[in-house]
Amino acid sequence: MSDYWWRASVVPLVFLLFSLLFWAIFGALTAALFYVVFLLLYMFLHVRQLVALDYWLADPDKRIVPDGFGLWEEAFIRINRMMRQHREEHAQRVAALQHMEQAISALPEGVVILDETYHIEWCNPLAEQHFGVDCKRDIGQQITYLARQPEFVQYLALHDFNEPMVLRGTRQNGLSLSIKLIHYGNSKLLLISSDITHLERIETMRRDFVANVSHELRTPLTVVTGFVETLNDMPNLENGMARRALYLMSEQARHMERLVDDLLALSRLEDVRNALQEEILDMSVFLHTLYQEGQTLSAEKHVLRLELLSSSNLLGSRDELHSAFVNLISNAIRYTPQGGHILISWYAQGDQLVFSVQDSGIGIAQKHIPRLTERFYRVDRSRSRETGGTGLGLAIVKHIASRHQAQLEIVSEEGRGSTFRIVFPHSRCYSEIKEDGGVVN
Ligand code: ADP
Repeated sequence: MSDYWWRASVVPLVFLLFSLLFWAIFGALTAALFYVVFLLLYMFLHVRQLVALDYWLADPDKRIVPDGFGLWEEAFIRINRMMRQHREEHAQRVAALQHMEQAISALPEGVVILDETYHIEWCNPLAEQHFGVDCKRDIGQQITYLARQPEFVQYLALHDFNEPMVLRGTRQNGLSLSIKLIHYGNSKLLLISSDITHLERIETMRRDFVANVSHELRTPLTVVTGFVETLNDMPNLENGMARRALYLMSEQARHMERLVDDLLALSRLEDVRNALQEEILDMSVFLHTLYQEGQTLSAEKHVLRLELLSSSNLLGSRDELHSAFVNLISNAIRYTPQGGHILISWYAQGDQLVFSVQDSGIGIAQKHIPRLTERFYRVDRSRSRETGGTGLGLAIVKHIASRHQAQLEIVSEEGRGSTFRIVFPHSRCYSEIKEDGGVVN
């Protein structure tokens, strides 16, 4: 600073000396005039620098720093350096902020920053979907003005955010959301929303499943307990009546047994710890055995045929594939009236392998087909039960198919018959052990 004082004083001092010299030579008036002119000129030059500085400061980002002279030049260079530094710091802060915004935007949750009166200050794209707001347009709007579900408005009004709230069937997209509000900073609020639609659906499925199982078990249990009580109350029971009651009880007990077996099979298939026990199956031998089992099940009521059109073998679990194939064959037998035809075939389709069971049975109306693999879904409940069905067979087949990366395909026409196919990927095909395929009648 002292340097500035000294440098700023040099020029006026030099001119003062000249003025004193002029006084001695030309007199006091001339010297005084000379010095006044100098001071005016000196002041003009400084004011010009100030004007240039003022002009630049009005828009420092767009205008160039003025070229100063003397002391001004140095000051301008310093200001310029400060401005550059400031701009760099600003750019770094903007980049850090953008980075944070990108990270929050990528969160699998909706995030909205609210002020203490619930006005939106910022939100990420997922929050736009969850609450039907627009992150740019709706800044400054009160969130309850845009997301107006009464439960949500009430939750915000209560100011008690210890427990998250669940918002079901939001107006915008019917989602179920879990909503949390967290206080932070200076009376700001962070609203976090998670989409729990999928979890809710699973919970509903679980509830339905328990209800279905209970419902399925209730009828046989009522029959069994009813008969047991009747038999108990009748000391002089007739032999024929007792036999009939025992027959019905054993029928219902068997149904419960089948149901429990199928439920256990399903839970085993769903157990992620239960790895697939794979082996290469000689399909000719395997399918001949199944064909024999089919004959036994049909008890000569149907015409069963086996067609082996491919000699390729299959990599898979013997027990699981046996269960899936038998399920399809048994369904074909149960839903095909006496004298009907059932064709079991094994063939190649491109580089895939297909196991197919075709029947000339009662068929299935189109509207039922997409739901057949749901647990306990039956087109005709009483027919299924009469023939010993549990309503879980196709659910088991679908599970087994997907454990083998295979697809279950169903083609059916009501009154004309159905074809159930399991299409295996090429990766499960193994080159033939035998060359002789053929048709077995
Ligand atoms: P279910 O034990 O009742 O047979 P599934 O899961 O095996 O249960 O089959 C579900 C439903 O699909 C059956 O109740 C039946 O209505 C229908 N279905 C399955 N296979 C056939 C078929 N081959 N022909 C006609 N309907 C069938």
